[in-house]
Amino acid sequence: MAIAANLGYPRIGRRRELKRALEDYWSGKSDAQTLLAAARDVRHEGWLAQQAAGIDRIPANDFSLYDHMLDAAIALGAVPERYRAADALATYFAMARGDTHRNLTALEMTKWFDTNYHYIVPELSTPFASRPDASKLLAEVDEARALGIDAQPVLVGPLTFVLLTAHAAGANRLATLDGVGAGYAELLRRLAVHGLTRVQLDEPALVLDLDDEILAAYGRVYRDLAAAAPQLRVTLATYFGPLPARQLATVLALPIDVLHLDLTRGPQPLKEILGGLGAGVTLSLGIVDGRNVWRTDLTKALTKLEGVAARLGGDRLIVAPSCSLLHVPHDLDGETGLDGELRSWLAFGKEKLHEIRVLTDGINRGRASIAGELAGSAQALQSRASSSRVHDPKVASRMAGINANALARRHAFPVRSEIQRRRLGLPLLPTTTIGSFPQGREVRKARADFRAQRIDRAAYDRFLRTETERTIRLQEEIGLDVLVHGEFERTDMVEYFGERLDGFAHTMFGWVQSYGSRCVKPPIIFGDVVRRRPMTVEWSTFAQALTGKPVKGMLTGPVTILQWSFVRDDQSRAATAAQIALAIRDEVADLEAAGIGVIQIDEPALREGLPLRASDRPAYLRWAVDAFRLASSGVDDGTQIHTHMCYGDFNDIMDAIVALDADVISMEASRSSFALLQDLAEVKYPNQVGPGVYDINSPRVPGEAEIAALIERMVAQIPVGRVWVNPDCGLKTRDWPETEAALRAMVVAARKERAVYGAGVEAPGGT
Ligand code: GLN
Ligand code: ZN
Repeated sequence: MAIAANLGYPRIGRRRELKRALEDYWSGKSDAQTLLAAARDVRHEGWLAQQAAGIDRIPANDFSLYDHMLDAAIALGAVPERYRAADALATYFAMARGDTHRNLTALEMTKWFDTNYHYIVPELSTPFASRPDASKLLAEVDEARALGIDAQPVLVGPLTFVLLTAHAAGANRLATLDGVGAGYAELLRRLAVHGLTRVQLDEPALVLDLDDEILAAYGRVYRDLAAAAPQLRVTLATYFGPLPARQLATVLALPIDVLHLDLTRGPQPLKEILGGLGAGVTLSLGIVDGRNVWRTDLTKALTKLEGVAARLGGDRLIVAPSCSLLHVPHDLDGETGLDGELRSWLAFGKEKLHEIRVLTDGINRGRASIAGELAGSAQALQSRASSSRVHDPKVASRMAGINANALARRHAFPVRSEIQRRRLGLPLLPTTTIGSFPQGREVRKARADFRAQRIDRAAYDRFLRTETERTIRLQEEIGLDVLVHGEFERTDMVEYFGERLDGFAHTMFGWVQSYGSRCVKPPIIFGDVVRRRPMTVEWSTFAQALTGKPVKGMLTGPVTILQWSFVRDDQSRAATAAQIALAIRDEVADLEAAGIGVIQIDEPALREGLPLRASDRPAYLRWAVDAFRLASSGVDDGTQIHTHMCYGDFNDIMDAIVALDADVISMEASRSSFALLQDLAEVKYPNQVGPGVYDINSPRVPGEAEIAALIERMVAQIPVGRVWVNPDCGLKTRDWPETEAALRAMVVAARKERAVYGAGVEAPGGT
């Protein structure tokens, strides 16, 4: 009999109960007991939902109060001394979020593979001596047992753990491996002693490009684990991509009981895997997409499963989601805002479990036994494939007409910049900001009042206009050169555009954990993207009419909109990006026609879209750059196109950044401003650039001298005529007083440096 398995369940709660419980606890509104009770309720609900859906193999320890990498660190005893507190929760949350009383900053956080989930990067000493602590693992297994569920505990696998923490350990990537391996061996031994017979080790790192040293380490560590706990059968879960050919032999030789493969992210070398799979090994096929929200094509999936079952026998087959369901919303039940047709195309976490059960039944009892489900899936698919809401012939013909001309500005940067210089009349070292201004209590209150219909649209608009005008006046008074309207009308830079474009749907409860208690609610792109009317022109022209200084039009770029949405699975990401780009291009044209001379198209997510494997990167960068160029190139030479990037180390995509050919780019210097400047100098960045002069993530107000020194460092690497002075990202999370003080310091510093470099140097534009 094939069995139905799950690899992980959404853990923030159906209605984000865990989020609320965490935030109440952090703010002192509730105590530890209340938090832990809420956490237990979330776990129980998840287990019971999986049981009700007929899942045979249900995970435990996939739950986390904050993050599963942090949990793994705690399980290994990788707790840096400075975080240790009398109370385990205090230690845990100090590592996750810092502790102001003890003056501790949090551990670093970074993206989990190519998802929008962020994990805490554990800090390991080298050599690392593990102090294993299986208490959470065992407690959760026992909790499930008490509900009558024989759950299989899940842990991040040892090599993935080591590789994701490696940079903290210094140059040698495997320096901590011995200690980590010994820690896992002890944890597994304790699970076995506790009477468990199975464990799931997640090794998504196996889909990355790995070298021989790492592959050898896999063999060694997994043999050690098998020797340490021979009674314990290991499910090795790989996901987020197919297994690369060069690691097949290694993976097939590992002493494991179950090998899990992701079948949704490009073709797996199934023939080779079936040929080389050990006689006792079961294959777990991740056929239901754990990263996207579409209903599975059950007939196609069943056909694939049947093919494998014919080779292996149903007894050696497990049906599963491609990866943990952490990355999709909980369920569709409450989504009353979605119409029936659109809803019939979707499957969230709970619905995916049902699909897994149905497919397993199809294998075990034959196609006929699930005929109704197959028909339902086929019908949904058919309605999607033929729906006029999905396919718009006008979009198709526009897409077909995209040519090289549409991807290039009329003239090269040197010509454009000269025209822009004369038109805009900016001083040397011009100052600007990235777009948003503080969205504090007042803005949030007005929004809440409007949503709850305590104030009407007119009153809300009045409020937004007042805020915008106040922000324009403040920027004038501070003396900034290129102003922004402040983005008060936007809660989110992707949602704002999604709500104004056809082809996008929005859920009410479709929350997905981003990190800790933070969740995002990505829009769902289901159909061809059409812009029916201008989306931002009113706000931009309103702000521009208030002042003689240029006000930047503010748009979100096509790659970022794509990256932060659930996307169509019936066409390529490249095609969807191009459709969004056409919509943004139209908006750019309308802004230009309305007299907006400077237009910024933000692409903070361009870097994070980079594929996991090197061989996939050039193609991605090509279409991503093309999408930006398609969005931005329709303007006259005199219109200045800005872009903005943050969240990342840009060293490996510098050529693509040059290829965007934006007139001006503002960038966050995440590692250090020094490294960013070197990268820019190395590629001889040809256009204008504003490396962030202060960190907006901190409430700290930078001093004038400090900013002036940074400008001097910038000018040492980049010709002064091409340097802009700006913060490193939008200001919406900051408070007004610190924002004002920081911007004043920035303007004073820029003026001072202007006086130093001014004599004999052209204002921006020149080379
Ligand atoms: N214009 C946006 C803002 O200022 C950019 C945000 C971002 O880069 N993430 O808020
Ligand atoms: Zn940013």
